[in-house]
Amino acid sequence: MTGPKRRPNPFADVQLDRVPDRRRDPRWLEERLHDPRSRVIPVWRARSLVTCADPPSAVSIGVPPRDPAGRVGPILLGMEGDEARFAMDLSDSDDPLAELGVEGAVFEDLDKVGALLGRAEGALLAYARGMVHWHRRHLFCGRCGSETTSIEGGHVRCCASDDCGILHFPRTDPAIIVLVTAEDACLLGRQAEWPPLVFSTLAGFVEPGESVREAVAREVREETGVTVTDVAYHSSQPWPFPSSLMLGFTATALRSEPEVDENELQEARWFGREDLRGRVASGQVRLPRHVSIARRLIEEWLEGPAERVT
Ligand SMILES: [Zn+2]
Repeated sequence: MTGPKRRPNPFADVQLDRVPDRRRDPRWLEERLHDPRSRVIPVWRARSLVTCADPPSAVSIGVPPRDPAGRVGPILLGMEGDEARFAMDLSDSDDPLAELGVEGAVFEDLDKVGALLGRAEGALLAYARGMVHWHRRHLFCGRCGSETTSIEGGHVRCCASDDCGILHFPRTDPAIIVLVTAEDACLLGRQAEWPPLVFSTLAGFVEPGESVREAVAREVREETGVTVTDVAYHSSQPWPFPSSLMLGFTATALRSEPEVDENELQEARWFGREDLRGRVASGQVRLPRHVSIARRLIEEWLEGPAERVT
């Protein structure tokens, strides 16, 4: 997959050194947990701590991190210069703000505030949210059902059973998202549960035994009956809602009338460039949120070729 180098998408490009080698050094980790320069990103029931200001910004807390239940433990995200950044799950607390003694801040869903945050903050909170989500879903071994424990700075969970003992690693689920075009039109769809008038690019999870290009062709065919003829990689985006990696593509297709799979979409339509511009301007069509790669794919097509970063 080659293509022009593009600016990162929202939630991508965490500005940390992930220090994979250091994670295996318990003594070094313990020192970081008591280093006053270290900071902790709290996550509570999938929500991130941000200021009540407009626009909000991320709030971190000092070390040592508080962990009421201790089931997840501190997760080393990485180093910002010589300062460690950890994530911490506070989901077992009923009143995390009081426990932290934090004022002027609130736990918010990143899905809601992500677009308002600075790029680096959004990426850091997405990383923390994704890691905590993985831990919460892997407190027990998927193979034997025993409890697991966090090791290597929270980047591995180890099954506690002597008979099993397998290691579980953080996972992310690949999903494709694709802007399909034919001549001077693009193919957008809408799902019944979306807000009124919203149309977006087609998307779906990659299945086992399938390349991403195959997934693009299959999803477009399944959802609309349209056959794509050429698929090109665009860019990717961590999408921690809860654990996807969005792989963005553009594809060209033979223009045919969409035949919608009603289990997947309510409607799919071809929109000419000028037509879509006009409908968006007049409020007859709404595009997906700015924070999404879908929005970027559509806007770049509306505006013309993507700018190249040198
Ligand atoms: Zn096990």
